[in-house]
Amino acid sequence: MGCMETSGDLLLPRRNTRQIHVGGVAIGGGAPVSVQSMTTTKTADVEGTLAQVYELAAAGADIVRCTCNEEAAAEGLARIVPRSPVPIVADIHFHHEMALAALEAGVQGLRLNPGNLRKESEIKLVAGEARDRGVPIRIGVNAGSLHPDLYKRYGGATPEALVESARIELAYFEEVGFSDVKISVKASSVALMIAAYRLAADTFDHPLHLGVTEAGPPPAGLLKGTAGIATLLAEGIGDTIRYSLTADPVEEARAGRQLLEALGLRERKGLDLIACPSCGRAQVDVIAVAKAAQEALEHRNLPIQVAVMGCVVNGPGEARGADLGIAAGKQKGHLFIRGQIVRVVPEEEMVDALVSEAERLVEEGVEARLAAADASAAAEAEADRRELLEEKGDDPNASEVRIERIRRRLDDRGPDDRG
Ligand code: SF4
Repeated sequence: MGCMETSGDLLLPRRNTRQIHVGGVAIGGGAPVSVQSMTTTKTADVEGTLAQVYELAAAGADIVRCTCNEEAAAEGLARIVPRSPVPIVADIHFHHEMALAALEAGVQGLRLNPGNLRKESEIKLVAGEARDRGVPIRIGVNAGSLHPDLYKRYGGATPEALVESARIELAYFEEVGFSDVKISVKASSVALMIAAYRLAADTFDHPLHLGVTEAGPPPAGLLKGTAGIATLLAEGIGDTIRYSLTADPVEEARAGRQLLEALGLRERKGLDLIACPSCGRAQVDVIAVAKAAQEALEHRNLPIQVAVMGCVVNGPGEARGADLGIAAGKQKGHLFIRGQIVRVVPEEEMVDALVSEAERLVEEGVEARLAAADASAAAEAEADRRELLEEKGDDPNASEVRIERIRRRLDDRGPDDRG
């Protein structure tokens, strides 16, 4: 269903990259940008991990990563992978044997950190095994765990040092004929991460996995992740993304999906609730109604944009791009579809009416619901609109009156006061 979101076509053109496949999910080479998240359960806890994988997939994750830090985790992966609704990537920390065990378990991708797994012979052994099995690897460079030699050589975790770390790892892979690779150069500093990815985009033609690492709890963590990831996506850089939040990973998956939908890079799968900022003209507590509407609608997975507007004077017009909306009148709610009033309901029924209309709209479509509109609704809304205008005038916040007073006061100043 169409709506007023920004189209991905308005962003800078996507960077051309090779394409790899993590299970059935294509990454790079023109594929839709995918969302990743990571489980927080012990991978050895098969049922607990699978339950979380399902939750993450429902929230928007296309790929899920699980840690593979011990033998029990690798054995867990052997049970999780065949039952997972999305491809599973194993995160390898220090031991190349864990990478080999994860491949044995059937994972669809590996993540290696060049700062942690440092021995050339071991790296090549893993790359050779991944090559033989057709499993891609992410070279996951992290500013916080950069190889000490590079740290020394570059005088710190600079963008050049992060990209050089990925280049060295890639060279090892290429020596064994393996190039089924995506690259990440994450940092907890947003500015460093942006600079490192820009350099990586100029250096490699492999797909890039974006993320701001250790971003912390929301809302600051969400802001940091968005600042870094959205900036790069708007420049056409990035093929798969992950928010790293100190929170339930479902929030990571949801944020990733919502960001891509907001940028117009993925089709809307769930609800997009917008609301007016409210002003002196508002006839309801917009924040409370928006919150109630969000809670009532978000679990229904309706792929529409819904607007909650504080008044019928400007609401339906300002939100005419929304699929459905409600604007408050005098103890009433005016339901509108694409800006056209279709029904007027008592104020206390606003949220319920919004929910039932949202469901019917998705089921029956815009045309059918517009055709079923209550014939007297538009006239009733117009009467409320006029009444409200008469009552509060054109300037409900008295801004114009205040501005006039400011001007008069400044005009009254003597020549010495002007400066
Ligand atoms: S004019 Fe109406 S719709 Fe616009 S901000 Fe004020 S209350 Fe909301």
